[in-house]
Amino acid sequence: MRRPEFLTALAGAAVAGMSPRAVAAATPNPTKRVLWLRHEGDAQDTLAPFCVDGRTVYWPGYRSICWVMRDHNVAAVQGFVRIDIVLIEALWEAQQTLALMGMRRPLVITSGFRTLQTNEATEGAARNSMHLYAKAADMYVDGVSTRQLFDVIWSRSISGGMGYYDDHVHLDSGSRRWWVGELDVPVFSRQFDA
Ligand SMILES: [Zn+2]
Repeated sequence: MRRPEFLTALAGAAVAGMSPRAVAAATPNPTKRVLWLRHEGDAQDTLAPFCVDGRTVYWPGYRSICWVMRDHNVAAVQGFVRIDIVLIEALWEAQQTLALMGMRRPLVITSGFRTLQTNEATEGAARNSMHLYAKAADMYVDGVSTRQLFDVIWSRSISGGMGYYDDHVHLDSGSRRWWVGELDVPVFSRQFDA
C-alpha cells in the first residue's frame, strides 16, 4: 500500500535523525481526516476517521471505509479488501472542497472494489478496471450535478483518472487522465429497418 503523503514528514525527519516524539512536535497542525460515505444500497452513512494525527492511517476508520467500499455482490470474505489509501485521500480532498463550497454531504458510492465476477457483470466495465485493484470509486453526491462533481474532483492535484458519466463520476488513483463515458444517445426504433 502506498502512503506517500502520510510518510513524507516522517521520512524527512528520519533523515535528520529526529526521535518520533520530536517528529510529532515538528509536524505543524496535525489534522484529523474524516470521510463521510454511504454505499448506494445502504441505509446508513459512515463517518470514518481514517487519520487522526495528520500522518498515519487510523485503522478502525480505514477499515470502515473499506467495508463501505467492498464488493456488495459477493460474500465479505471475497469482497472486503484493503482500499488504496491514495484513493481515500483523494475522496477526502474532494469532500473537503465541496464543504468549502457549502456542500456538506456524503459521497454516495455506487461501486468501489469489484471482484472479477462483479466486474464482468458490470455493464461497460473495462476488462482491466482499476476497480479490480481496489483503486477506483464510482460515486455521486445528492444535490450536486455530475458535471460539478467532476470539476471539483478534477481540481484537486491528488486526483488520478476520472470518468464522466450521466449519473456518476469515476475516480481512480492511477495516472492523471480523463474520459467521457458513453453518452445517452437515442436509439432509433426498428421501424427504420428494412
Ligand atoms: Zn468506475
